[in-house]
Amino acid sequence: MKLFTIGPVEMYQRTLDIRGRQIPYFRTDDFSRLNLETDKMLKNLIGTSESSNVIYLTASGTAAMEAAVMNCLSPDEDNVLVIEGGTFGKRFGQICDVHDIKHSSIVLEQGEALTISHLEKYDNKNFTAMLVNLHETSTGQLYDVKMLSEYCKSKGMYFIVDAISTFLCDRYEMDKYGIDATIISTQKGLCLAPGMSMVVLNERIIEERVKRKLAKSVYFDFNDYMLNMERGQTPFTPAVGIMYELNDMLKSITETGLDNFLDNIEKICFDFRKRIEELPVSIPSYRLSNAITPVIFEKPVANEIYRKMSENEGVFVNPSGGLPGERMFRVAHVGNNTISDNEMLVNLIKKYLNQEEI
Ligand SMILES: *Cc1c(COP(=O)(O)O)cnc(C)c1O
Repeated sequence: MKLFTIGPVEMYQRTLDIRGRQIPYFRTDDFSRLNLETDKMLKNLIGTSESSNVIYLTASGTAAMEAAVMNCLSPDEDNVLVIEGGTFGKRFGQICDVHDIKHSSIVLEQGEALTISHLEKYDNKNFTAMLVNLHETSTGQLYDVKMLSEYCKSKGMYFIVDAISTFLCDRYEMDKYGIDATIISTQKGLCLAPGMSMVVLNERIIEERVKRKLAKSVYFDFNDYMLNMERGQTPFTPAVGIMYELNDMLKSITETGLDNFLDNIEKICFDFRKRIEELPVSIPSYRLSNAITPVIFEKPVANEIYRKMSENEGVFVNPSGGLPGERMFRVAHVGNNTISDNEMLVNLIKKYLNQEEI
């Protein structure tokens, strides 16, 4: 099996080795030390100060999105601007609906880039926060973090970012862009098993929001997590094995150097985009993340090629849902993939495209 998918991604051997070991008992000083070390490395790689807090949830990314809303926003005070450029943006809207958070969504059409003029239309609405999936994974669009950051700053809005498929795929600097909360998940850029998601909170949002215990929830009360992490623990049993994978991966990236790690993804991404230039396919014109390349076919053959590659070859790309799914699939560039894997994949796409032509 070979994965060109984002979440899970093709995992590194070092992570697979850790997954094969016995899961130890975890209320120990050793495990606490490991987690405190992890916490330090993560804050460093995500570009936030030691005064920020990381909430380690045993849950998929959507739970972290919901928990962030529950702990940082309130029905009484907030009016939120949601960037809805695809299925993940839509999910933020749903979460606001369920939790009675007043919100407006900027809905992007298929293929439409988010620009400052979208934001300017909402200039006088007194928004208190923005919710955005910085890389909208369903379309591949990577929004302009500087533009969004400046907008939030100028309006005094909290800037809450789902960076699940951009952290460790593209450059991401939390404090530099005044991001108050960042949501990440283990199965994307971190290249680990699914199961843990983290919410990184800066001091401002902790002091002004989280500490007021806005969330009516036992499992998702961030205050409990912050208190426990002071000693390197979580309030409830975490996915202990993934915490070991996480520590190892952050160590590995720190040793490699973040720039080198990201440069390598960019190299593989650009190589793939170069290789498909000779095929009868195109890529979207908006700004793309290096995490994935959406491949758009001239004819509605994407699902069929996806199906044949997975069934006949054990090679997986990300199919897309709905109508665009007939013409588009997405190829991930994160994880244990190389230039020669690109070569193999492009040859397969070519082969099955030729079959479709006949
Ligand atoms: C994968 C992903 C999520 C989380 O999805 P889960 O299935 O709940 O893990 C959230 N946001 C974005 C942008 C994603 O790519």
